[in-house]
Amino acid sequence: MSNPFSGQSIESARRALAAQLKSAQLDEAELDARILIGAALGLDLTGLVVQAARPLTTAEASRLSQHAQRRLAGEPVARILGTREFWGLPFRLSEATLVPRPDTETVVELALEIFRERQISHPPHIADIGTGSGAILLALLHEIPDAFGVGTDVSLTALNTARDNATTLGLAGRAGFVACSYASALRGPFDLIVSNPPYIPSAEIPTLSIEVRKHDPRLALDGGNDGYDAYRALIPQASERLAPGGALIVEAGQGQARNIETLMAAAGLTMDRPPKADLAGIPRAISARKMPP
Ligand code: SAM
Ligand code: GLN
Repeated sequence: MSNPFSGQSIESARRALAAQLKSAQLDEAELDARILIGAALGLDLTGLVVQAARPLTTAEASRLSQHAQRRLAGEPVARILGTREFWGLPFRLSEATLVPRPDTETVVELALEIFRERQISHPPHIADIGTGSGAILLALLHEIPDAFGVGTDVSLTALNTARDNATTLGLAGRAGFVACSYASALRGPFDLIVSNPPYIPSAEIPTLSIEVRKHDPRLALDGGNDGYDAYRALIPQASERLAPGGALIVEAGQGQARNIETLMAAAGLTMDRPPKADLAGIPRAISARKMPP
């Protein structure tokens, strides 16, 4: 099959790709086209501008065509590149990891707010339950230079990816990774426990966008019949493992904040602030404290 990009200049290939993505109704066609051509050619934005008139080599045209086919088939740009930025840090992805979402940065923000209100005289201990790529844990370790942390997951592949990310980010000396269900293998006590668990009701998964339903791992999404299976399991476990004064911060799906607070209260935790909203105004990060006896 002939390659639509061969013989074209960088600029005309970029425009052709953007038009192709736009006609497939992809929302971020211009941006995606720029990122995909940059990745296929190994050029940043400046490189693309400076070399705009240069023709693509055969190898470049072929790589770009493969990227285009994958995007047109619904694969997210982050999966094609194999990496995604979270909290300004680069995270490598694998099949077993969710693509970290900007919404989840709300969990990091709230955890830092709560942490910085307290005076802790020892190096803080953090647990991230269902760590995936390690996004939340490694963002927190990056921000709190004397903290130690552990991430859990039931996927060994995800744990390997998280460990690689810790190494790349220079955080491996302060991060451990443990295969277990939720927090079951952890002892604590922890000053902070964070989690973005799977929370989509099983029946809603087929209604999600193709980028999510086909390319994010089901294990990372499926929250059981009503979406709350993971919260019911992990909130009592977290409560038992928090230090007095410690906090649990979890991500909530849209409309789930109230029920999560009820589960937290039932596990003996105290709500001392409202949920933190994400950029779309959705209550996204829910926190509760373990009060000292
Ligand atoms: N924390 C990452 C983030 O925010 O990008 C990943 C979140 S993803 C929504 C949920 C993660 O929980 C997945 O990595 C999944 O493998 C993991 N998971 C699912 N069931 C689990 C269980 N029973 N125990 C521990 N982790 C689990
Ligand atoms: N935020 C993901 C989505 O929008 C879901 C991740 C999760 O279940 N925690 O699909």
